[in-house]
Amino acid sequence: MTLRAALLFLVTHALVIGLIGPEDPVGSYLMLMAAPLLAALACARRARRSQAACKWRLLGVAVSLFSLALLALLYRRMAGLGPAQMMLSTLVLYVFYRVPLTYVAASPGGGNRCIRAVDLAIIALLWLLYFMHTRALAHLNTALWMQSLSTLSMVQNSLVFCFALIRFLAEDNPDRRDFFRTLSIYALGYFLLALYINTVQPRAPDGGWTDLLISGLFVLLAVMAGSTRRWPAVAVPRDLRRVVDAGVPLMLPLLLMMVALLVARLQPVLATVGFIGAMLGYALRSVLTQVEIQRQRDELELLARRDPLTGLGNRRSFDESLAGAHRRARRQGLGLAVLMIDIDHFKRLNDTYGHPEGDRRLRAVAAILEGCLQRGDDLLARYGGEEFVAALPSPDTAHAEQTGERLRAAVAAAALPAAEDSVTISIGVAWQPPGAETAPGDLVDRADQALYRAKHAGRNCVRTATAAADERSDRRA
Ligand code: GH3
Ligand code: MG
Ligand code: MG
Repeated sequence: MTLRAALLFLVTHALVIGLIGPEDPVGSYLMLMAAPLLAALACARRARRSQAACKWRLLGVAVSLFSLALLALLYRRMAGLGPAQMMLSTLVLYVFYRVPLTYVAASPGGGNRCIRAVDLAIIALLWLLYFMHTRALAHLNTALWMQSLSTLSMVQNSLVFCFALIRFLAEDNPDRRDFFRTLSIYALGYFLLALYINTVQPRAPDGGWTDLLISGLFVLLAVMAGSTRRWPAVAVPRDLRRVVDAGVPLMLPLLLMMVALLVARLQPVLATVGFIGAMLGYALRSVLTQVEIQRQRDELELLARRDPLTGLGNRRSFDESLAGAHRRARRQGLGLAVLMIDIDHFKRLNDTYGHPEGDRRLRAVAAILEGCLQRGDDLLARYGGEEFVAALPSPDTAHAEQTGERLRAAVAAAALPAAEDSVTISIGVAWQPPGAETAPGDLVDRADQALYRAKHAGRNCVRTATAAADERSDRRA
């Protein structure tokens, strides 16, 4: 809704009140019913272009229900019904209108299906408490009923405002921040208006000037929902944001507890159900959230250790597992062999066939190497680029060299098309006996030096690091 349309609406409403007045409040009621509907329309429109679509829609539903409550009030007035028949409008206003509004302010959103189901169960219980309490109160005397309802509504209005404000301050998604800013302003306006109506002028809308304040609030909501202006983020310390994020799931159970506390005097059984529901709901939600976090952590850990292209472990996972492989080999009374494997002339292959084809060759070579190293204790990882590394328990250098030769021959036998002829690999092998105290990292360095020699020897071959050869290459370096 534009500012001009809003002003036009308010001027029309003011004219209706000024010209007709409280003698015939129907005109003012119609304006009052139209204002929340306009706000609901603006919310529905906003939902179409916002990442907080669901929240905008729910706010729209809540304010439409407010309009429905006014219709019920108007009906009561027209039919000349007494306070005992106020049930319908009161139920709509206190129960149906508040539940979506509360949900939107207090529900953390996100989470998996089970977590959302718990949130919905808590809100359903809250709804039940409101409903049963409001219905039960209808049989009490009017004064007590009004007093009890207004306390309940004051607590609830102030909590919705506080929750919305906290979430506005802590939100870093611009769309959701805009939503919570609008909700905070609306909830504050509603709280003040309800306070004024409940204390200063305790009457239902009656065609007087107070009606203009009510329609003014909904028109303000319609203008805010229609506004595309982005507001700058409030600078909130990151840690405080985290605290709020972690604390949001507490809001719904807290609200349920507050309501249970308020109804405790008149309906202790209902209050007990509310308390137990709030505690169980929060506990269940915490357990489910922990499980979800653990699952995501495991998934992330796996991703952090895996090479996405070949599906093998990455260099990080190899470095972490190498010490373990070393210990295992020693327990078995075997030495440890490290094989550094590099695809020959891979740059040329990329240049000839293109990178996507190069990727396919990388995957194919990885699969061949993996097929050749099938013992549980053997490690194989993509070390980087077109290089792989393997580590395996090995009784002596000859065995390690034979393993290297097996890998080389398997890749050559696959005859994967390359720039010239087929894909081949060069391998540098390093071995250390069971009792050796050298760090596993040194073994990798030695294998790398041996690989360097394999490349110099013409590629498509295996070279083993020996003390003499290492010394020679050390001197060259
Ligand atoms: P050498 O026989 O001496 O090892 O020669 P080379 O061409 O294999 O070695 P060089 O280091 O010159 O080139 C390695 C190439 O590997 C360059 C780079 O574009 C390519 N490469 C590295 N990672 C990937 C990858 O993930 N996918 C593809 N397609 N190519 C990659
Ligand atoms: Mg290479
Ligand atoms: Mg290389």
